[in-house]
Amino acid sequence: MTFKELNISEPILSALIKKKYSLPTPVQEQAIPVALSGRDLLGIAQTGTGKTAAFAIPVIQQLSQQQSKSAERNIQALIMTPTRELAIQIDECFSDYAGYTSLRHTVIFGGVNQKPQVSVLKRGVDILIATPGRLLDLINQKYINLKYVKHFVLDEADRMLDMGFIHDIKRILPILPRQRQTLFFSATMPQVIATLSQSILNNPVRVEVAPVSSVVDTIEQHLYLVEKPQKNQLLIDILQKKKRSALVFSRTKHGADKIARTLNKQGIGCEAIHGNKTQSARQRALTNFKSGKTHVIIATDIAARGIDIANLEMVINYDMPDVAETYVHRIGRTGRAGNSGTALTFCSKEEYSIVKDIQKLTGKKLNTVAVPV
Ligand code: AMP
Repeated sequence: MTFKELNISEPILSALIKKKYSLPTPVQEQAIPVALSGRDLLGIAQTGTGKTAAFAIPVIQQLSQQQSKSAERNIQALIMTPTRELAIQIDECFSDYAGYTSLRHTVIFGGVNQKPQVSVLKRGVDILIATPGRLLDLINQKYINLKYVKHFVLDEADRMLDMGFIHDIKRILPILPRQRQTLFFSATMPQVIATLSQSILNNPVRVEVAPVSSVVDTIEQHLYLVEKPQKNQLLIDILQKKKRSALVFSRTKHGADKIARTLNKQGIGCEAIHGNKTQSARQRALTNFKSGKTHVIIATDIAARGIDIANLEMVINYDMPDVAETYVHRIGRTGRAGNSGTALTFCSKEEYSIVKDIQKLTGKKLNTVAVPV
């Protein structure tokens, strides 16, 4: 199935050609026709499946076809997402896909001065991408009016729950018009999320792709049996030899900083991102990495959530994750959208117990590489 066969309008098709997307991903193929028909949608899909375009394209298409000529702009689509990084990435997607329409969009999130965000809002936008806290804050200050919202997207609902945003969402829901389209996305469906979705959605169509246990087949996985004191040298050797873009996972923030210092001393340019870094430092590190200025980024699980780096070649688990699901999330950062990828995992004796869980969850045996001491 092609994008054209999904009845996507000309301006969006041109934008997709510019992005060099040749075919829709499975979640796009299933979700776009449903959303274009105006129905509510329950989407079970992780980051990496192309779900952002699956909701952004129908929202843009419906709004651009209804756009009135009046000078006044109101927020007609609200996209809510848990983290600033995701919000920024979604905003970039809207810039890409709506590039040939006259729709205006903006993004708001906390941790930064609200003034520039407020001044864009005052000029008028059609689409607002927001994290819950800042959204509520600006609603309370009367800078945001949700009366005209026709399309509401709740992205990464299970992460919203993990991060304690459910109460914020429950405060925002009654402010939204009852007559609206709702697109609800979550990677997993625990009972609380299923109940929440039932209270928000009206006779939705359910679309489900790639459950959490599925590991993309294009990812090559290796397990290095290596004790803690040897991990630094192994990492240096691999990065010097492979010279590929790599996202390195550390269990702790302190550990991430230590790894970054060690690599920089060896002339391997890298930056660490974690919760103790300011928002601008994290954004700068990501920009440097995406532009190729640095080839290595060290992250904790929380900081790396939802980071979308196109063509990331390698994920390295410097520390083993605590649970098997985290392993799947981590390595899913590579091998995206049909690209190949490599996942290397450093495992010491104390960490070995989790390997069994990972193999059980993924249904695959990890290829073991013994590291000479
Ligand atoms: P997402 O799951 O929305 O975070 O998307 C994951 C990645 O896939 C992003 O880098 C998108 O730019 C990319 N992508 C989305 N749709 C397509 C497509 N149809 N063809 C190729 N790449 C895509």
